[in-house]
Formats: sequence, structure tokens, C-alpha cells
Amino acid sequence: MNLILAGGKLIDGTGEKRDCATVVVEGRAIREVAEGADYPERTGFYRIDCRGKTIMPGMFDVHVHLGGGDVVPGIDDYRVSRRLDEHMAMHAYRTLEAAQRALRSGFTTLRDMSSRDFVDVQLRNAVAADLVVAPRIICSGPGITMTGGHVWPRCVQVDGPDEIRKEIRRQVREGVDWIKIMGVTGGIASSGQDIRRTQFTREEIRVAVEEAHRLGRPCAAHAHGLEGISFCVEAGIDTLEHGTFLDEVQADRMAQRGIYLVPTLLNSYFRSQGAGDPVLKEREEQLRRMGIRIPAPEERIALAKRHGIKVLAGTDCGGNTRAVFGLHGVEVYMLARCGLTNMEAIVAATGGAAEAMGLADKVGIIRPGLVADILVVDGDPLQDISVLAPFNSRIEMVIKDGRIVSHHLFGREEVSFPAPVREV
Ligand SMILES: [Zn+2]
Repeated sequence: MNLILAGGKLIDGTGEKRDCATVVVEGRAIREVAEGADYPERTGFYRIDCRGKTIMPGMFDVHVHLGGGDVVPGIDDYRVSRRLDEHMAMHAYRTLEAAQRALRSGFTTLRDMSSRDFVDVQLRNAVAADLVVAPRIICSGPGITMTGGHVWPRCVQVDGPDEIRKEIRRQVREGVDWIKIMGVTGGIASSGQDIRRTQFTREEIRVAVEEAHRLGRPCAAHAHGLEGISFCVEAGIDTLEHGTFLDEVQADRMAQRGIYLVPTLLNSYFRSQGAGDPVLKEREEQLRRMGIRIPAPEERIALAKRHGIKVLAGTDCGGNTRAVFGLHGVEVYMLARCGLTNMEAIVAATGGAAEAMGLADKVGIIRPGLVADILVVDGDPLQDISVLAPFNSRIEMVIKDGRIVSHHLFGREEVSFPAPVREV
């Protein structure tokens, strides 16, 4: 489409802002960013008055599990709750529907962090071929885990350097953009596992990262416990997912090596509300009985800030029952509530995420020549970050690839979850 987004406050995604600017979209690209509101009319361009509103990039959620969409609540059987045995066609429809909920909530790019049968790869291809309207997908296929390792029913189980290399080569052949190492440590979703305990050996982790990089694929790792984190940092992982027990020494190494942290705070939001699914609550109770105290998310954000680690927005939607597609904006809200400034939280979901995904010259920033993934927000997220979160969303329009894919007049996303915590 050809659009003139006239006279809004501009947040460009890099940390810069302008009080009043006009963004011109021609076809799929941003053509021009002009000062002020009085940009002249142009034939063939549809003008949208953005005075009093904010123009910002479409957001990224860099940690989702699209395959099968939302996790079915109240079921303590991993295969059933993730619908791993349903027909692949139905699984793909659910995957698409979940992705479209993310798109309507303002998230125009998603990185999948393990899905069944490369359904994420196929969705990426379908989006790229213009067959369906959905976010841009960055995919990792099924994660790799050790035999019996974290969430093994959804991953490929591999042991030893040779099997790891072979599986990574197979995944690259199948078209993944990233490699996801799942079994670095246990996880919340794996009943009976100690989330602090390391699973893959130091050598296995080193080989996985080496092989991924050798084949030109960045590498993400699920890690809660400190030893697992240290093996990933040493191996040169690109993004560290969760990082629950991160300490000062490893934080310093992460910063020096430019490793990004994806703290996945959406679940902390629900935990802080005492809300959610009985199965997940039982799992958290089990961790408490093991003597595991999960550090407060504020501690991790403070650690990241102290050391200068770049933080990214990732929800783990589709990874647990509370993380429902469409709630991605809560992550941005949580990043700000736990210690980032509102601007830093926005960068974590826009330009910073684009940089981490290797897409900063393509999308995620409002700059001439880049792809037009843009939000129009009726409000100012620098004043009140909750205007990006579904419980108070003021996102009026979602533009992806230069097309209006969602408008508040079509109706807002209906999602039920507890009200936000208000500071006193
Ligand atoms: Zn996950």
C-alpha cells in the first residue's frame, strides 16, 4: 500500500524519538521519514492522521513455540497438552491461528524456539510466498535435547558429538534459520527435573554451537542453571534463553561476548498474580520442595543492566499454559516493570531484536529503505508502556510489509487474564 502516516510521535526502534514526524510507505517499504505533520498530499497515497499518536516499528517476540498454538491447560501429559499426536494439517492450522493472534497484537516478527515436524519452517515459507497473512517467522525446527532431556517429546534426542552434528546438518537441510539447544538444563515444563542441573555435557554444547556456526546458523540455548549457562557462554552461544540463575561472572562474560539475554518474563507476570494453571502451579510447588528458589526477574534485569547485556523480548508463548498467543505485549510491559526504561523495553522488542536476529538492515527500525512493519498507537508508550500490552492496548493499526493487516475498527483481540499489578 501507499500510505502517509502524518504527524505522529516517532519511536524509530533504535532508542531515538521525534516529537512529530511523517512516515511515507510505498509498496512494502518505508520510502521517507519527514519532519512535522504537514507533508503534502500525493496521488495514490492514503493519508492517515497520526497527530496525538505514536508511530513505531512492529514488534518482535524472539521466543515462541508456534507448533500447535496454545498449550492445553490442566493436562499433565506433555504430548496431549502440546497436541503432538494430532493430525499434522490440524496442527498447522492451529499454528497459523496462533501466529495471526500475535500479528493482531502488534508482533510482526516471531522467532520459533522449537516446534514439531518443522511446521515453523513451513509457515515461514508460506508467509514468504504470500499464501497466508502472518508474522515474519524465524525458525529453529525441533530443538535438540539429550535422551530424556528437557521437553524431549517435542525435540529430537541426540547424544554425543557425532549425533549432534548429524542432527544439526539435517535441520539445516530442512531449512532452519537458527539451531535451538534445548537440553542444556532442566526446565519448568519438565516434571521431575531439577532446572539447575546440566544435561548436555560441556563438550556436547561446544560441538553444537561450533557446528551451527560452521553452517552459518546462529544458536540459541535454553538454560536455567549456572553451570549450563557457563558452558553456553564459553561455547559462544548467540542468545541465552531464560538465564534464571545467571551470576555476576557469567553476566560479565556474556556482555563481553555480545551474547543476548532473553529472560522470558511473561510467566513471572502470572506467577506474581498467583494466577494460572493447576498443573503449572504443581510443577512450581515441586521445584520449591526440591529447595529451588527461583530468583526474582528484577534481579536478572538489574544484572543485565549492570553489565551491559542486551536484553530481548521473548514470551515463551506456546511453551506453557499461561503463555497464550496474543499476550506478547505483556513481555514488553514486564521488561519495563522489572527495570528497563520504557524506551529500552521497546528497543528490546524492535531494533535490538532485529539486530540480534541479523535483520537490522531489513526490518525492525523505522528508516527509509527498510520493510514497512509499523504500528500506530493511540497513546505514548514512553509515558505508559501498558498501551502496548493487551490489558490496556491502544495499538490502533498493525502494518506488515506495507499492508494494513489489523485495525482496531476490526475489533480488538479478546484475551482473558488477570489485571496488571499496579505499583503502590
Ligand atoms: Zn521455550
